[in-house]
Amino acid sequence: MTSPFVTRDGSSWMPAYLSAIDGTTCIGCGRCFKVCSREVMHLYGVDDAGEILGICDEDDDFDGELNRMIMVVDHPGRCIGCGACARVCAKNCQTHEAADNAAA
Ligand code: SF4
Ligand code: SF4
Repeated sequence: MTSPFVTRDGSSWMPAYLSAIDGTTCIGCGRCFKVCSREVMHLYGVDDAGEILGICDEDDDFDGELNRMIMVVDHPGRCIGCGACARVCAKNCQTHEAADNAAA
């Protein structure tokens, strides 16, 4: 089926929206966040038991509970499906969904 989406010159283009990141595989490297222009995902803290503690920013102090950080897709609706995040992820832990399959 031909994509209803096009680039500026009218070429067919199928956006692939970021829908999920596997928190068991993600290493929280931050590369995907750096290349994303839409703030679709953010780093979250995780404790020893794997529970998500909350979003990480410079002021966060998780009272010693912080074990590691993972990237979480917390604003999927902002994604334009450019695919930049997929290209920089070395862990292959992202799930993308073609725009013609994505729920409205
Ligand atoms: S596909 Fe593009 S807009 Fe969507 S999360 Fe990845 S880098 Fe951001
Ligand atoms: S690039 Fe991959 S491994 Fe790194 S934070 Fe993003 S999803 Fe996780």
